[in-house]
Amino acid sequence: MLEVLIVGGGVMGAATAYALARRGRRVLLLEQFAIGHARGSSHGLSRLISYAYPQLHYTQLAIASRQAWSDLEADAGQRLLIKTGALDLGLAGLPHLRACAANLAAAGVTFEQVSAPELRARFPQLSIADQTMGLYQPDGGVLPASRCVATFIEQARRYGAAIAVGVRVDRIVPDGAGVRVDAAGATYRAQRVVIAAGSYTPVLLRSLGVSFPLLVTREQTACFLPRDRVLSKVGYLPVVIDHDNGTEPPLVCFPDLGEGVKAERHGVGPLVHNPYEPPPLPDPAENERIARRLEQTLPGFATRLVRAETCRYTHTPDGDFLIDRHPEYSQIIIAVPCAGHGFKFAPLIGEIVADLALQGATQYDIAPFRFDRLRKRYPVELA
Ligand SMILES: Cc1cc2nc3c(=O)[nH]c(=O)nc-3n(C[C@H](O)[C@H](O)[C@H](O)COP(=O)(O)OP(=O)(O)OC[C@H]3O[C@@H](n4cnc5c(N)ncnc54)[C@H](O)[C@@H]3O)c2cc1C
Repeated sequence: MLEVLIVGGGVMGAATAYALARRGRRVLLLEQFAIGHARGSSHGLSRLISYAYPQLHYTQLAIASRQAWSDLEADAGQRLLIKTGALDLGLAGLPHLRACAANLAAAGVTFEQVSAPELRARFPQLSIADQTMGLYQPDGGVLPASRCVATFIEQARRYGAAIAVGVRVDRIVPDGAGVRVDAAGATYRAQRVVIAAGSYTPVLLRSLGVSFPLLVTREQTACFLPRDRVLSKVGYLPVVIDHDNGTEPPLVCFPDLGEGVKAERHGVGPLVHNPYEPPPLPDPAENERIARRLEQTLPGFATRLVRAETCRYTHTPDGDFLIDRHPEYSQIIIAVPCAGHGFKFAPLIGEIVADLALQGATQYDIAPFRFDRLRKRYPVELA
């Protein structure tokens, strides 16, 4: 019998397969599409890794995750993280920035608070108002998303994990202390199952009789060629997160890594009611909105749109991750770390989920990610 069957080959399933296989466990990962497909949350060229969070536990987890990425790089003999620096911008005194600065200081992260005149001198491509301040983390950077997923998969295979693509899991049935999994006409038995299904999680939870308020949105990114190519490159432009005066969702801009400057308005997309509907083409009106916002932060940067793509966020009602064992069936582990900022934590979450699958507990503090905190406040039905 398999020890662990993982549903989902996005970054979380792939990282979990790697963590388990590296520990010598018999693991099978089933992915319904291909690795790196564009109907989930883990594809593309870039994800931000930074430590600035208004909640200290995320800052601390991001520090541990940074180490876990280095361990993966050493194990795979590949460089993944591109150090670019990360710059949060906003109105001086914005509660979000104040909380981030306090947590960065408390966690011992290297960062600077940068005044408006200094920002203008160091980053002349940015449009900086007099009341703006910056939080600059020199160790912030970019993870090449699709390449990271491929690396987890390659390394998991190297340690003996079986990875099957084009296999959709239809049903998960608790079976004594283990589970039975029906997928594409075959039946698998495993001691544990990990649901790392991203935006498809509500469908699988429904098949298990769990009704749970997870929402999925479709987000859009757009890449532009700026007038000045030099000032858009790594070394000149960090990842910029512009919170402005805090009334609008932040704009996130990535330096040009070969496809222009990528920008997105964080978390503004429409609801996705059925994850199996093919994603529509990127919305030209949203490209316009991104371009307008980008021009405010980086004038001259939204000169020519080169490409746009969509991607999904999965949201819990309180915005925190859901990483826990199923409340009734402890052999089922659910990992939904999305809400648009989960990628940076993937190697650590892989370890945490492996701990939960093998030992039922982990040394990391996952209290904010447990089922129970949601069950107390939101409608959760268990069959
Ligand atoms: C536009 C965008 C920008 C982002 N930016 C950042 C960022 O800058 N920094 C950051 O840290 N995070 C960022 N994120 C968030 C991060 O990318 C996600 O947290 C992460 O990719 C989620 O991975 P996942 O494995 O949980 O989900 P997914 O990548 O969606 O993977 C789930 C997989 O499960 C498979 N699956 C589902 N159901 C089944 C089934 N029944 N049978 C078989 N397979 C199944 C799916 O096909 C899919 O491949 C961003 C996300 C988006 C969309």
